[in-house]
Amino acid sequence: MRKITLLFVTFCLILSIFAGCAPKEDVTRIFFAMDTYCSVTLPAGYEKTALEVEKRVKEIESLLSPFLPGSDVYKINAANGGGVTVSDETAELLRFGLTAQNGLSEFDVGLYNMSELWGFYGGVQAVPPSEKIAETLLKCGVKNAVFTDGNTVKLLCGVKIDLGGVAKGYAADEALEIIKKSGAPRAIVNLGGNVATWGLKANGKPFRVGVRLPYSQDGVLGVVESADLGNHFVTAGRYERCFVENGREYCHIIDPKTGYPVDNGLVSVTVLGAPAGYFADALSTAFFVMGLDGALEYIKNSGGLEAVFVTEDNKVIITKGLEGVFTLKAEGYTTEVSD
Ligand code: ADP
Ligand code: MG
Repeated sequence: MRKITLLFVTFCLILSIFAGCAPKEDVTRIFFAMDTYCSVTLPAGYEKTALEVEKRVKEIESLLSPFLPGSDVYKINAANGGGVTVSDETAELLRFGLTAQNGLSEFDVGLYNMSELWGFYGGVQAVPPSEKIAETLLKCGVKNAVFTDGNTVKLLCGVKIDLGGVAKGYAADEALEIIKKSGAPRAIVNLGGNVATWGLKANGKPFRVGVRLPYSQDGVLGVVESADLGNHFVTAGRYERCFVENGREYCHIIDPKTGYPVDNGLVSVTVLGAPAGYFADALSTAFFVMGLDGALEYIKNSGGLEAVFVTEDNKVIITKGLEGVFTLKAEGYTTEVSD
């Protein structure tokens, strides 16, 4: 009983933290899915819509999680190179993963074996011997996922896939679809770093979306306030999952070229202006791997994308379109606008 009371108190506390950002007449539903706390805030009266969002996010998790027996991804990975027929949604995301290899090769959904080797899937987190990394690199790469017929996929060379780099973004897309259909005038969905907004605040102003203060639980580094940057604000941060060995930090985002966790001076990347959540999610991971210069070059050639980069030496670099839109809130950081 005490345990239940404690759990409830903790839940209410978390609820009040999230709800603190929402207008009084809005209600926030919090649930745990995809290994993170998720929240959906809608005007009072749309509680059923919030429930539908929760159900859909959990449904997507049960399709895409590499750890849930019965999911599409689990089945593909367990098939030992045999063909597995997957749902349209899984096939579409995997096809996106394949096409991303043209021009966005830093984003590779074929790194399961490498993430596992480094202990990021619940194993022992430690730096593996370099021969082990070289060996595992041969069992990586989405290019080894082959569609043989329709939605039937097989994996070559012992490769396994992990759609964790797009799953939450895709779930955010689906959440927005449900919300739009419900007729709700506004909403905020937060799936652990993947924020999607719909409409304007009750007072007619754009939502203010916070960029998290690195390594803090709920501190805010800065705030973006704009109605013109699309619906998706996605952050990839090295502090999300990392371990320290011999004074060096190793994060869960892996450079597909080397098999090592990314270590390029970036602490986080927030992507704005992408046309879809799953794409914003993939871009945030890819930009993190590319590093500041590579990502800025990509943004220059893309049109419409904006980003906030946080570096290890406490610089916040924003792209031009965020001038006057991003406000720094935390002390000890300086903002620069990229050329
Ligand atoms: P989070 O899961 O914390 O939101 P990201 O959205 O940045 O993190 O995605 C990183 C996840 O994607 C990792 O947890 C791992 O499952 C997978 N991943 C790691 N490195 C890459 C990469 N280079 N390309 C694609 N997916 C990756
Ligand atoms: Mg992500």
